[in-house]
Amino acid sequence: MWFATENFAEVAPVFVFDTNILKELQDKDDRRLSFIYKSLEEVDARLREAGSRLTVVYGDPMEWIPRLAAKFGAEEVITARDYEPYAVKRDASVHARLQKEGRSLTTVKDSVVLEQGEVLSKTGTAFRVYSPYARAWRNALVTKRDLIEYEPDFAKMASVQTLDAAFGSSATLAEWTLEKMGFTETDLWIAPGEFAGKARLEQFRRAIDAYEERRNIPDVDGTSILSPHFRFGTISIRSAVRFALERGSDGADKWLAELIWRDFYQDILANNPHVVAQSFDPAYRELDYPGREDHYLAWEQGQTGYPIIDAAMRMFNATGWMHNRLRMVVASFLTKDLLVDYRKGEAYFARKLLDFDLASNNGGWQWAASTGCDPQPYFRIFNPMSQSEKFDGEGNFIRKWCPELAGLTGKSIHAPWTATPMELRAAGIDLGETYPHPIVQHDVMRQKAIDLLAIARKEAKASKETAPT
Ligand SMILES: Cc1cc2nc3c(=O)[nH]c(=O)nc-3n(C[C@H](O)[C@H](O)[C@H](O)COP(=O)(O)OP(=O)(O)OC[C@H]3O[C@@H](n4cnc5c(N)ncnc54)[C@H](O)[C@@H]3O)c2cc1C
Repeated sequence: MWFATENFAEVAPVFVFDTNILKELQDKDDRRLSFIYKSLEEVDARLREAGSRLTVVYGDPMEWIPRLAAKFGAEEVITARDYEPYAVKRDASVHARLQKEGRSLTTVKDSVVLEQGEVLSKTGTAFRVYSPYARAWRNALVTKRDLIEYEPDFAKMASVQTLDAAFGSSATLAEWTLEKMGFTETDLWIAPGEFAGKARLEQFRRAIDAYEERRNIPDVDGTSILSPHFRFGTISIRSAVRFALERGSDGADKWLAELIWRDFYQDILANNPHVVAQSFDPAYRELDYPGREDHYLAWEQGQTGYPIIDAAMRMFNATGWMHNRLRMVVASFLTKDLLVDYRKGEAYFARKLLDFDLASNNGGWQWAASTGCDPQPYFRIFNPMSQSEKFDGEGNFIRKWCPELAGLTGKSIHAPWTATPMELRAAGIDLGETYPHPIVQHDVMRQKAIDLLAIARKEAKASKETAPT
């Protein structure tokens, strides 16, 4: 909005509920819709205080944006640049249609700090590995200009009267309720809106210095939980980077490294849009995962018999949120212990995650599956029990989300099948009845996964060597 009010005398703020996206959503109670809706209410209220309002329509932006621009007599349409393949296509189409009428579309860098083309190797190529990317990213951030926050000038927003005259008085947020669009309001575990985003960043001030030590423990507030705000733009990524740099502690520097991962995955997606459908590493493109559907469903429902996996998936299903350590552990378990195609897990996360972001989700899944750029090496496979012992030592997280295991003490909370019959009886657990037996044996599956991935690599190498030149 700043760019628009800085460059034009009068601005009409518009939001399109994009039916191309909405029609793909499977859940009527999709939490993202409630988050977006409540955040838009806040924007609308701020605009109304200034005598303006948000214009809201529901439909295909490729048709609506040119139509609205014509009604308003706009010279230019301004939007934040989006690097996802659908958005790139959509914006190109909007631009072409606007141009036919002598208007144009200007996209502005907003959702990342440094974008495609701004962080390059010495030879001018895009990076494929995080560490050199991060070094170059830090070097590229020489001017703090990239971090300046500009406030839009609300006095330049078109008045309600002007907007009503151009678009009609019913193109409003109040008109396009969630119900009218086929969705229901949901309780949100993370407060939406810009004020809540700023408050959460402020709250994180207390935890940031200890970030390095606490960021891997799911049962404590060791991370910022800002990802939904970054995703929906209710906090600016620039303000977060500035916050980390000003803090200057080791914890803040580690946190900055995570913000750089976010830019890195956006860069990977922008430069390699094929990762949406295919593995980044060509070695795995022909890999046929042998995993079973019933195993996949047990994973999805938190019924694998591995407490840390089940607790993580149950929390995820209940809230739309999962801690980063647990995302890595459940993704590794699905792809390496159950040998299920990472794209199935990626799709489930895309359906349920409140902070779903195509670039980070795809990057995270391909990292865990060892198919991505700079991934977990294929032979290094998380052991769910030792991950659980290391990061949920007392089993507090497990007890919260798998209450049927709460009576277990010591190490058996991480592996109930290792408890003696007496211990199980004392804890009120009947394995196979009150809590499942493990659906696979980790040691066996670990070896199978290594073999599967090693064969895929060998075959890919052989077919490359025998391919006609
Ligand atoms: C399988 C898998 C799927 C993931 N899917 C998503 C997703 O859809 N959306 C998403 O925002 N993150 C995703 N991540 C990354 C990470 O789990 C979340 O960003 C993080 O858990 C958000 O919590 P936070 O805000 O408390 O993070 P903090 O630890 O406070 O980190 C601050 C910010 O840095 C960024 N960040 C942190 N870790 C990563 C990372 N590994 N990759 C990219 N950015 C990172 C996020 O924007 C995050 O909000 C995924 C990771 C994995 C392993």
